[in-house]
This record gives sequence, C-alpha cells and structure tokens, in this order.
Amino acid sequence: PKPIQPIGRFAPSPTGELHLGSLTTALASYCHIKSLGGKWLLRIEDTDTERCDRQFSEQILIDLEVLGLHWDSDIIYQSERLDIYNDYLSSYLEPLIYACQCSRKSLAQYWSKKAVLANSQSDNPNKNKLNRQRYPRCCIDAHLDKDTHKQRIQLPNHTIGFMDGIQGMQWSNPQHTLGDMVVRRQDGMINYILAASIDDGLQQVTHIMRGLDILPMTTAQISVMSAANLSTVDYWYHLPLICHADGQKLSKQNLAQPIDTRDPSKLIAKALRLLQQPPIALDTPERMLLQAVAQWDNAPLKNKHALNLP
Ligand code: GLU
Repeated sequence: PKPIQPIGRFAPSPTGELHLGSLTTALASYCHIKSLGGKWLLRIEDTDTERCDRQFSEQILIDLEVLGLHWDSDIIYQSERLDIYNDYLSSYLEPLIYACQCSRKSLAQYWSKKAVLANSQSDNPNKNKLNRQRYPRCCIDAHLDKDTHKQRIQLPNHTIGFMDGIQGMQWSNPQHTLGDMVVRRQDGMINYILAASIDDGLQQVTHIMRGLDILPMTTAQISVMSAANLSTVDYWYHLPLICHADGQKLSKQNLAQPIDTRDPSKLIAKALRLLQQPPIALDTPERMLLQAVAQWDNAPLKNKHALNLP
C-alpha cells in the first residue's frame, strides 16, 4: 500500500559539485514536498563508477547541510545496491530483457546503409527521417548470453501519457523516443533508467520534481516501474532549466561553476529568486527555508522551459 505521507527526493549524480542548476532542483523539490507535509529523501546516483566520485558526493552532502536542506531517512547510494537491480533484471524484468552485441560502430554502419537505401528510393516516406537514436532491435532474436553482453529492455510501442504539474499533459511513445534502452552495460554497470526506476518504486516516492532534461525519459520510467511490479509515482514535475542570459543551459557539460556556499543565505535567496518565488529577507538558512516552504508556489514556473540568469 502507498504511504499516506508524500515522499519526494533529490537524486544527484556525483559527477561534479552542485551548481546553480542542481541547487535549484534540490531547493524546489525540498520546498515543494515540505509544503505538502512530506518527506524529502536523498539518493546518490553513483552507479557510473567512471564518472562518479566519492569526493563529489561528500561535497554535495556538506553543501546541502550548510544550506539547511536536511534530508529525511538514510541516504541511499546506488553503487551499494547492484544486487537489487540485478535481481529485478533476472525476475520481474527478465521477459523484457535481451542481450545485445551492437557496438556504436556497427550501429553507425547500420544507419548509414539504411540512409543509402532510403535515399535510393525517392518515394520512401522515411527518407531523411531515420531516427538514429532508436535502437533498431538487431539483437532481439539473437539470444546472446546476458552475462557477457550488455542488456537492453524492450520498451512498449504505444503512447503513454502523464500529467506534469509544471509542464502540463505529456504524451510519448518510449519506443519512438528512446527505443530499447541499455539497462546494464557489458561490464555490469547499471544504467540510470533502471536504477532510478527501481529505487523510486522501492522508496515509495510519490512526487518527483526534477529537471526538464529528464522529461523525455519519464514514459520509459513509467513502463519500467510497472514492468517491475512497482507502483509508479503519482505526481511528476519537470522544472525549467537554468540558463545563462544567452540561452545556454547551465550544466556540468557546459562547465557550470560549483556553488559557493560561503554565504548560504544569499545563495538561497538567489535560487528562490530564480525559481520565481516571492523574496525572503536574509536570515539563517533554516529560517529562510521555513518561510520558503510556507509560501512555495509552482504557479510561476508553469509551462516554462527555461529560467534565465540575470
Ligand atoms: N541523477 C540525475 C541527475 O543528476 C537525476 C535523476 C532524477 O532526478 O530522476 O541528473
């Protein structure tokens, strides 16, 4: 049975320190779930051992503490839960999983052959419309060994809808937008879509508020959760992304500056301003957050895709 208390979470990947973009996600999800009287969980998404670093996750915890963003319950580290994800792969999800030996190179060859073919058939309606992102299911009937190859999950080929509390009603067909995603790499590493879906289910998360960049994955997450026999999240909210004045998204890839927590109260005020919340007088972070929670409102964010830095 679902808990009565709302449960939200912040789930950073420790591939770098928090920047203003990830901080606003943390702050918005905190204020929103607390305004509903809920719990705010912290989950460290560190299955990618090449890109994640313990140093970054430790710094994230310190920053959140300094900012007064105190989490409820124990922190979950996904890197310690590989057995759980593997159990799901070999039980509930097993009928949907297949091994795949396609490499980036072999897929590139596949697509270029297809393109040549489509271009030679001038009446082909798919001409120039080949979707290169989508895995063409070359290995689906090959029955390769799952332990020694990467594993993909068959995603449904129908439109799935969900209501987004910020972006409005969303529809997408996961097979069209993503294709059969890799859930476990050849070296055994578990990918985001699987780990996050299982954990949101097991942690009984009711409200997910996260960046708009993850919205394209949401219908896939809904399908994975229901295939895993986990009850899906009740409420979704995808926050507009923080952008520089020139429109460029603030992200680790774009080398966004880590936040400077020497003056946490000012930082909270700045992030709340970005999130279009009414101004709050500078005070201790904890007292500012109490007020931010009390006056939290999603309405100014509705249908926005970007929030521009001054
Ligand atoms: N770990 C993801 C990230 O840092 C967030 C995933 C989520 O909130 O679902 O981008």
